Amino acid sequence: MAQTSLDLPFFSEAHRRLVPAFRDWTRRELGPYEDSEGGDGADAKLIFQKLGQDGWLRHSVDAAGNATGRAPDLRMVCLMREALAYSSAMADVAFSEPWLAILPLALCGSIEQRLHYVPRYCSGSQLLAFALSEPEAGSDVAAIAATVTATHTGFVVDGTKTWTSNSGLADGYVVFGRMPAQPGKAAITAVLVDGSRPEVILERRLRVLSPHTVGTLAFRACPATDHEPVIGGIGGGFQIAMRALEVFRPTVAAACVGFARRAFDEALARCKERRAFGRSIAEHQIIQAKLADMATRINAASMLTYLAAWGSDTGSQEAGANASVAKLFASEAAGAVVDEAVQIFGGMGVVTGTVVERLYRHVRAFRIFDGTSEIQKLIIAKHLLNT
Ligand SMILES: Cc1cc2nc3c(=O)[nH]c(=O)nc-3n(C[C@H](O)[C@H](O)[C@H](O)COP(=O)(O)OP(=O)(O)OC[C@H]3O[C@@H](n4cnc5c(N)ncnc54)[C@H](O)[C@@H]3O)c2cc1C
Repeated sequence: MAQTSLDLPFFSEAHRRLVPAFRDWTRRELGPYEDSEGGDGADAKLIFQKLGQDGWLRHSVDAAGNATGRAPDLRMVCLMREALAYSSAMADVAFSEPWLAILPLALCGSIEQRLHYVPRYCSGSQLLAFALSEPEAGSDVAAIAATVTATHTGFVVDGTKTWTSNSGLADGYVVFGRMPAQPGKAAITAVLVDGSRPEVILERRLRVLSPHTVGTLAFRACPATDHEPVIGGIGGGFQIAMRALEVFRPTVAAACVGFARRAFDEALARCKERRAFGRSIAEHQIIQAKLADMATRINAASMLTYLAAWGSDTGSQEAGANASVAKLFASEAAGAVVDEAVQIFGGMGVVTGTVVERLYRHVRAFRIFDGTSEIQKLIIAKHLLNT
């Protein structure tokens, strides 16, 4: 049984060397944020900057190859997210949400765009946010209503985006809107907007169970950036969004593995020390069965996660479907594992601020964003039926 994900056969020497160093850095530098609930997002921005300054963000995109548009080393990003999530959901959010936003540029941007944005992301000096979802269009991305209009002075964005991570904090937004203002996927275009523009209005910060700094943003006749605002060409937005979300999925699964491993470790320690009916609760067979089920789920989730990441890194035809399988299984498995950990803690498991209580809240949203579990099943079935 693999005790850690690095025991799996998917990794190179570089992964095996870097990841323990990253784990040590995480423990040392991010320890104070372990139980952070996100607050106004200032901590998330600080962590993002710290990750950049200490050179970790460049392992999450092809920093050297930013002129070639090579896909990032997904196994590395997954390992980093697993390590971050193990210690702090907030640290994972601080790392992952800006990474999702740089993906459209790293994967589909022009050479000039990559050379401009990727190094700024790598140094932690520019935090971008991914603004796709709208109040009336979440799972159904093709139904978004925001518009992008070409004027004689440039491109202008109108519309409302919601669930945008780092709302009001980001230095820039990757906004998806319709151009021309026609229905259907083919009209969706991705543009860059400067976060400091007065036409970007933070309408509402959404308080959620996890430390996500999400909010609702209004773009009111908001000019896009002056220089090269369109990513991947007019009408390329839907494909870009789908590609970014697909690449993101195994990393969401990896964070879930991190949460589940932490919940398991907490539960294992607790059941050895807590006594009931004259012996430790670990000696009761029903508790042992729980531990076995939890470990089995974690191992399966880890295998599926790194199979998907390895497939993506090596150009597998199955990479898209495997990404959905991993995200679906790992997010559901983490929910179940954390739930059992709470049960093993008994009353202490629901006391606000304990590690398992925190994990119980923090893991829930992972079954919803980046495509809900239901949407992952539709993607998997589409692949199986070849439709
Ligand atoms: C913490 C958090 C962070 C997020 N971060 C971002 C972000 O940074 N940027 C961004 O753009 N968005 C972000 N999102 C939005 C997220 O992607 C959406 O919440 C998600 O896609 C679901 O959309 P919805 O909430 O509108 O639910 P709906 O689409 O309204 O779905 C409601 C329910 O119906 C089900 N459903 C919908 N269609 C079908 C179908 N065809 N068959 C079966 N069931 C179906 C869903 O599975 C779900 O259970 C975030 C969300 C959360 C919670």
